[in-house]
Amino acid sequence: MTSIEFEPVPAIDADAPKPEPGTVVMKFGGTSVGDTEKLKDVARRLVVAREAGNRVVGVLSAMGHTTDELLDLARQISQRPHPRELDMLVSVGERISCALAAMAIFDLGHDAISLTGSQAGIVTDTVHGKAKIVEVRARRIHEALNQGKIVLVAGFQGVSTAFEVTTLGRGGTDLTAAALAAALGADACEIYTDVQGVYTADPRIVPSARKLHAVSYDEMLEMAASGAKVLQLRSVEFARNHGVKLHVRSTFSDADGTWITEEDERMLEKAMISGVTHTLEETLYRVDGVAAARLFAALAEAQVNVDTIVQTSAQIVFSAPVEDRVDAAAVLDGLGVSWSASDELGKVSVVGAGMKSHPGVAATTFSTLGELGIEPQVVTTSPIKIACHVGREDVERAVAALHEAFQLHRPEAMRADP
Ligand code: ASP
Ligand code: MG
Repeated sequence: MTSIEFEPVPAIDADAPKPEPGTVVMKFGGTSVGDTEKLKDVARRLVVAREAGNRVVGVLSAMGHTTDELLDLARQISQRPHPRELDMLVSVGERISCALAAMAIFDLGHDAISLTGSQAGIVTDTVHGKAKIVEVRARRIHEALNQGKIVLVAGFQGVSTAFEVTTLGRGGTDLTAAALAAALGADACEIYTDVQGVYTADPRIVPSARKLHAVSYDEMLEMAASGAKVLQLRSVEFARNHGVKLHVRSTFSDADGTWITEEDERMLEKAMISGVTHTLEETLYRVDGVAAARLFAALAEAQVNVDTIVQTSAQIVFSAPVEDRVDAAAVLDGLGVSWSASDELGKVSVVGAGMKSHPGVAATTFSTLGELGIEPQVVTTSPIKIACHVGREDVERAVAALHEAFQLHRPEAMRADP
């Protein structure tokens, strides 16, 4: 397997035309294309952008829960489906959306073409299930755009350097969109979704949560890594590395959403905390009797994405995404170490660029949790984040209390222009 460490700048073929101004990349998530009526609405939105004179690239997710259903089919057949075949299977969902959207666009009197990731020139490494993009060969997209076509690209997939179909990990359509925006020199990457933008907390838990006008790449990275489901983590990393502005906004309205860009004073001064994020599905592994070097080398070899790591004397505690559970267990069993995993935890994180220059965030966080009688099991920090693993049943009240303690319901928290 060839795996690479980073997603490099997508190269545009030397003989391809130079990027034109007014190229827009518009990504639509699963709920936005949830049924055929919604797909027709998406087609209309793409046509409106085209009629405004733009070169339009639509990047679509699979309809509704299609990807989950395909994964479920595979699991009914096999405990550990063959990785190549699994990618052949799950990449189909996005193709369905794109072909249907193209048909709808024809009926609206415009020209369109749907492309698989491979046809769109998304070249990846050979790691099935979480391939990294190596290059974008955008010539075919440019040709179609030059012919006035609306181009629909199946998200979440590419073709490997070994000519196999690969997928980019759950939520990977965001990454496809960010990579195409970079490769095509688009002004921004519009991420259309079923919420209005990025919020100071999950509005289902905190009704007074506010939509943020602007979030820095680093803040969004921390938020995506700690439970904000609105953007795939790797897409944010890619956008930051390539200076692609992301605009997360609602499919169902024309309102401005949240801009993810370079840090500016607004983010540092308006409110020191941008948001409180959470997850309910943390798996924390406790491992005894293995050297850290050996353990993490084996996990890396198995492509397990380790997040939090805490080492106390002989015990190592780490977390990894739930979807890596089977692989992590196989690695730990293979090492012959004694280990346990607890699934009954969640994580609450306070994120904000302003934390760098305002002391006292940790004090407020711990005193707020303390007043609720919550004692975090593991605490991890970065310059702009404090994350606490707490019991799953305590997560929601911790989120609400921290949102209140940092006064994120106030208008300043929005970071809108004055
Ligand atoms: N359909 C894929 C998933 O559900 C990719 C995406 O929607 O971004 O993960
Ligand atoms: Mg998504």
